[in-house]
Amino acid sequence: MRIDALGLRDACANRRDSLVEATAGLARIESPSGDEAALGHCADAIAALLDGAGAPVERVPRSGAGAHLRATIGSGSRQVLLLGHFDTVWPIGTLAQMPVAIRDGRLHGPGTFDMKAGLAIAILAVTVARPHLRDLRVRCLFTTDEEIGSGTSRDLIEDEARASAAVLVFEPALPGGVLKTARKGVGTYRLDVRGISAHAGIAPEAGASAITELALQILAMHALQAPERGTTINAGVVAGGSRSNVVAEHAQAEIDVRVSEADEQARIEQAFAALAPHDPRVRLAWQGGFERPPLERGPHVQRLFALAREAGETLGLDVREGATGGASDGNFTAALGVPTLDGLGAIGDGAHARHEHVEIASLSDRAALAAAILLAIDARA
Ligand SMILES: [Zn+2]
Repeated sequence: MRIDALGLRDACANRRDSLVEATAGLARIESPSGDEAALGHCADAIAALLDGAGAPVERVPRSGAGAHLRATIGSGSRQVLLLGHFDTVWPIGTLAQMPVAIRDGRLHGPGTFDMKAGLAIAILAVTVARPHLRDLRVRCLFTTDEEIGSGTSRDLIEDEARASAAVLVFEPALPGGVLKTARKGVGTYRLDVRGISAHAGIAPEAGASAITELALQILAMHALQAPERGTTINAGVVAGGSRSNVVAEHAQAEIDVRVSEADEQARIEQAFAALAPHDPRVRLAWQGGFERPPLERGPHVQRLFALAREAGETLGLDVREGATGGASDGNFTAALGVPTLDGLGAIGDGAHARHEHVEIASLSDRAALAAAILLAIDARA
């Protein structure tokens, strides 16, 4: 089968209006993480799109998270997983200040770029690829809690990934449509420090300052950074103490850790666990840890990207790759050793920002590219 002879770009371009409509329709249904009712409404709309593509939808309910959506297209012996999420970071009511609207060739609105356009692109991709599939079964898994760490969906994602020859993630593309073949892993920690309070003037020696200890701990963490390997540590929130004339009994910090390499994740985990108080009268209590391992550009990722690049060439598209410091559910699947390609969603800008939008002209080619990648994987059996 010659992918270039299938007219995938035209087939997708002919459906551009419905692609824009689908994205706008989903963006008009606000769906913040954790709001089960709102997520349910959005799930209904996505299920209708999947139904329209001939993919019966199964709901996988999880307490506090609504229901994740799973759908299968085709019945081949090899599975490819299309991964996405429909929760957003935008609270209910955002639409009033940030309405879904088309201006200057861009579709604006909350969740358009991250990542409701990606879902519409994925669904169109399977729709146009479907008649040409030979031995491939396409599994769609669209989840409700990616923006809050995927606590209720991680097991599902990993189970589906283990059963898959490849995972395609429809998160937003890098500028210009560049695919993501490396993502950092993310750790979120909270450090609680308990010292001993005392009068700062009368008996300072009786006290053990939680704030001084925390400051020293932050410097110790800072010294663990290795930016040349992609490892950075940010104490982004600190609090503590009660009054200036009181030696502080409590202090706390919230810390974000980013790593590019799994070895670095292990090094930081061990180093944090070994951090001891400078003042033996002070107690340290850690919470949290790594939510997502890094998506490393290993041979499994490189091979899938090479195939995507070739598939793009058959369509006349120049497909390139890049890295990002943000994590996604693709981090889970790549860490299992399953070939994973991320950033297959829309071209646009403003994820989690007021100017969030997608470039309308590019949407249909994104679907054509994903369809071509599916067919190339199928042909590579
Ligand atoms: Zn996202």
